Amino acid sequence: MKIFCIGRNYVEHAKELGNAVPSEPVIFMKPKNALLGSRAPFYYPAFSNELHYEAELVLSVSKNGKYIPQKHAYKYVNQITLGIDFTARDIQNELKAKGLPWEKAKAWDNSAVIGKWQPLTADTLKSNINFTLEKNEEKVQDGNSTDMIFPFDALIANISEYFSLNIGDLIFTGTPAGTGECSVGDILKGFLNNEKMFEVEIK
Ligand code: ZN
Repeated sequence: MKIFCIGRNYVEHAKELGNAVPSEPVIFMKPKNALLGSRAPFYYPAFSNELHYEAELVLSVSKNGKYIPQKHAYKYVNQITLGIDFTARDIQNELKAKGLPWEKAKAWDNSAVIGKWQPLTADTLKSNINFTLEKNEEKVQDGNSTDMIFPFDALIANISEYFSLNIGDLIFTGTPAGTGECSVGDILKGFLNNEKMFEVEIK
């Protein structure tokens, strides 16, 4: 199982981190061990002093494929949820400044949280999917799938030019503006179209 992640897929988020808006998807990966178990506690990573949440729509791959044409992309995913791409922003900034890969900032054990899966149809994929993240009962991120620079079908087509998609792979589709710091004791709740998908306490 592989976890694909997309960076800078919302204009306002690219701007808030001082990044250029990309002309093709920015792809990185997390290993299988990055996925937090559904009942496992989330611990603040010892190597970071600046942990950031990034709420993202997550797709579940349901069919093996390579070189998937954009018009057939919807046949390769069948579930959606909201997740968090936890990021050690201090580590990422150091790595970016040196032009080094991001794994130490983004691909560590338990850095990927996912909520409960919702069935996905071609129609829901094309509709407005709204999602929000609350930190300690206050809304901190508010996103909509229609604001993605590269929509779901474009991401699936682009990823599959480089990597085989396999059943069970996950695709984190990027975060909107409003990413920020979290501390021990914070409670993060994610909502998809106003329905709660997950609740995570930072321990
Ligand atoms: Zn992200």
